[in-house]
Amino acid sequence: MISDKRRVGLIGDPVAHSYSPRLQQAAFDALGIAAYYELWQTSGVQLPMRVQSLRNVDCFGANVTIPHKKAVLPLLDHIDPLAAHIGAVNTIVQRAGLLWGYNTDAPGLLLALQEHSVGEGNNKATSLQGYTAILLGAGGAARGAAFALAGAGVERLLFVNRHLDRAQLLAVEVQQDYAGIVLCLDDPSLLAAYPASIIINATPVGLHEDSSPLPTEVLSRFAPDTFIYDMIYNPAETSLLRQARARSLRAANGLSMLLHQGALSFTLWTGKEAPLDVMRTALY
Ligand code: NAP
Repeated sequence: MISDKRRVGLIGDPVAHSYSPRLQQAAFDALGIAAYYELWQTSGVQLPMRVQSLRNVDCFGANVTIPHKKAVLPLLDHIDPLAAHIGAVNTIVQRAGLLWGYNTDAPGLLLALQEHSVGEGNNKATSLQGYTAILLGAGGAARGAAFALAGAGVERLLFVNRHLDRAQLLAVEVQQDYAGIVLCLDDPSLLAAYPASIIINATPVGLHEDSSPLPTEVLSRFAPDTFIYDMIYNPAETSLLRQARARSLRAANGLSMLLHQGALSFTLWTGKEAPLDVMRTALY
């Protein structure tokens, strides 16, 4: 019966492109958990009411996506230390009517990079020593990525964002406990190529239109050991990924990050180990 089922969903604007429902529903069904995962299209004005609706005990909580990962923080009762440090929440858990905020994007990205054989590590820790990370974007997803990459010990962290001031603010926060080199640019054509670079697209450029956040001539400067990661997964093959493959650079879309951040969210809601293979099959 529907009334016995727990609710959980994705809060964002837009949400229609998301694969989270198929990922999470497959996991609930596989473990026999009576829950259904919905898409909750939510504007900025609607956000407080939407978050309030999660307090009902029939609700596991929610995922939060573009553009609300920062705005949701003051609406919650408790913020997990990692999410507070990052300043972005992508997972909300309801416990006895109180709302807890977590960030699974950051560990999810590191697990995804491990899966693509970037850096060294095991399920618990990833080391990216010797790498230069180039982050395109300075929004909610980039925040998680920046703290994760800094924590994994990248040698250099470059932010490229059209509003330079946003990148600089994020850079100042990251530098509070990061001893590596940090640079900010507002023009990707100024990017210099470093060996062992990881270029991560954390902008929505390529999500709605067939365009790339990086000019082709910029990508041509990078060595064959460069890894390109596009957080976008729908479409599966963005313009950036096509540019990368045309230059024989290793590249992957954001499905692996979606998988790992989603598995971590699932465990927070249910207290159970996520059925990773089931979730992977639902996505790929
Ligand atoms: P967000 O908070 O709204 O941030 C968007 C960022 O992209 C901002 O830095 C913004 O720059 C920049 N940007 C937006 N439109 C742009 C344009 N036309 N040209 C250049 N820069 C532009 O969004 P978000 O939550 O970080 O999400 C970013 C992307 O990552 C989305 O596509 C989302 O779906 C994806 N994502 C994927 C996963 C996954 O699991 N695979 C997880 C999280 C996010 P300004 O600061 O200059 O405005």
